[in-house]
Amino acid sequence: MKSLDAFANAKLADLDAAALRRRLVETCRPADDAPYVWRGGRRLVSFSCNDYLGLSRHPKVMEAAIAAIRAYGTGAGASRLVTGDHPLFAELEARLARWKCAEAALVFGSGYLANLGIIPALAGEGDLVLADELAHACIHAGARLARAQIRSFRHNDVDHLRVTLETERARFRHVLVATDGVFSMDGDLAPVSELAALCGTYDAWLMTDDAHGLGVLNLGRGSAIAAAGGVPLQMGTLSKALGSSGGYLCASRAVVDLLKSRARTLVYSTGLSPGNAAAAIAALDIIEADPELTQKPLAKARHFARRLGLPEAQSPIVPLVLGSADAALEASHTLEGEGFLAVAIRPPTVPENTARLRFAFSALHGDEDVARLAELVAGRLRFRVDLRAAG
Ligand SMILES: *Cc1c(COP(=O)(O)O)cnc(C)c1O
Repeated sequence: MKSLDAFANAKLADLDAAALRRRLVETCRPADDAPYVWRGGRRLVSFSCNDYLGLSRHPKVMEAAIAAIRAYGTGAGASRLVTGDHPLFAELEARLARWKCAEAALVFGSGYLANLGIIPALAGEGDLVLADELAHACIHAGARLARAQIRSFRHNDVDHLRVTLETERARFRHVLVATDGVFSMDGDLAPVSELAALCGTYDAWLMTDDAHGLGVLNLGRGSAIAAAGGVPLQMGTLSKALGSSGGYLCASRAVVDLLKSRARTLVYSTGLSPGNAAAAIAALDIIEADPELTQKPLAKARHFARRLGLPEAQSPIVPLVLGSADAALEASHTLEGEGFLAVAIRPPTVPENTARLRFAFSALHGDEDVARLAELVAGRLRFRVDLRAAG
């Protein structure tokens, strides 16, 4: 089809002109060589993996997945509502619910699918979805799939949310407030306790997305745990610190039961593979048994931020905002030349003129790698800091 290719080529030319074209870069993460990855024939220390605890390459986690595959095969075989409801899911859900201090849990094929299923199942016509403006793309996508009205509130701005609830609450039947617990591109935390109190006052349902909190904050229990009682919808993913694949929601028994009938990404999508469920259970075993491990990524991020005079890291994610997409790409290339992988993050993943390098710290990073990266950022990237002043 000529018009189809012409359309695609014109779009690609626009993306190229704005330095916003994306390409898949083959990257190999050998199981016996964490935290290194191979790209373009070179071995690089990766600061771009969300595998915060190295569990995707942990022998016990891999063994659990292999054993499950040997016993049960590779795929769930059908939607969970047909024949795909593997016994391992019940075990995983019980473990997640207990870990997150919730009554029940429900596992989805991915975190993205979870948000696309949860939000439209709970909010519809006559309802309002209020999302933090910097919340993850799949929260906004889930909100758009719901037939509800959608508003954003300013990033982490509790007062803005309060004013919005004050003026809007009465016009809507139900209100769902959604936010990242840890913001994926900035690494800062949502003020979950304040949000929970506010939502309590206005009878709004709070949902936090803990993709980057589980396993690495509050001894592994995640970002919302201190306010768990006030967060009726604790969503997250198995694909980051747990090193597996899949998404989950921890909520009341009633909400979980409703979603089994109404979350379209659960009903009409194949259950996750038994291997992924087994890997996530094994990862939870490790996290529960080793609180020290869960503290390492944040400690390394804090050390790095301190060396560069950046604000104190609140999570294992540290952004270095450089402005233009070109500047971010160039900085990424420079670091790659020195043996470090830090992928450039560009719009629309982040707002215009805030392209950045996003460093994700892992328990497996050597202290000398972290120190060397800080040196390179200060030296080669001429990131303006006074290393002496920063100690
Ligand atoms: C990565 C991420 C997701 C998506 O999770 P997947 O399991 O990778 O689909 C959802 N929300 C946030 C905040 C994320 O960072």
